[in-house]
Amino acid sequence: MNYSFRKKNKIVKYIVIHYTGMKNLNLAYQKLSDSYSNVSSHYLISRGGKIFNLLCPKFKAWHAGKSKWGLETNINDYSIGIELENKGHEHGYRNFTKNQYISLGKIINFLRANFYISDRDIIYHSDISPNRKKDPGEKFFINNIDVKRFKFKKKQIKYYSLNQMLVLYGFHLSYIKNYKKYCIESVKRSLNYKNISPQITKKFIRDFNNLLFN
Ligand SMILES: [Zn+2]
Repeated sequence: MNYSFRKKNKIVKYIVIHYTGMKNLNLAYQKLSDSYSNVSSHYLISRGGKIFNLLCPKFKAWHAGKSKWGLETNINDYSIGIELENKGHEHGYRNFTKNQYISLGKIINFLRANFYISDRDIIYHSDISPNRKKDPGEKFFINNIDVKRFKFKKKQIKYYSLNQMLVLYGFHLSYIKNYKKYCIESVKRSLNYKNISPQITKKFIRDFNNLLFN
């Protein structure tokens, strides 16, 4: 068994975007649909843009693993997982294709019509497991699917500390406390930085600020 039933009090409110991180589509397809693999996902999108609906969203897929976001833990309980075919950082990380973005946009529009999911609730695996995961990674451009994750009103206070910005971004407090450098790397992936490091520069603070408030 590689999926389970959703508990009645756990409502779907997030979409988690992943890459497959495997050498080819067949391997990813097999793993995600193998009942002994311990992993699954609701959707898989090939580089050509073909959509595989592997599991009905009413079931809980096992895509996020140990994960936290905002005030919640075990994000599988609350989410729908979408996997984009990409070899990933381990096997040769590549740009996502135009067809993948088109198909992803279609799935997201469909899910938004059926669940209460806002732009803010479309999140990355690297956001909810920053100490373990890099996907979908810095080559994933969310602007290509017309989703604006962050649109906070211009600051009410003059200055936000880095920690306050990390909270606003959505990281679970325990991650900010224990894995801050990974949180910073995760934000850099969201910002599509080419070089990912935990270094905090003035440019990073400025870019992070613009990501949240513009
Ligand atoms: Zn993932």
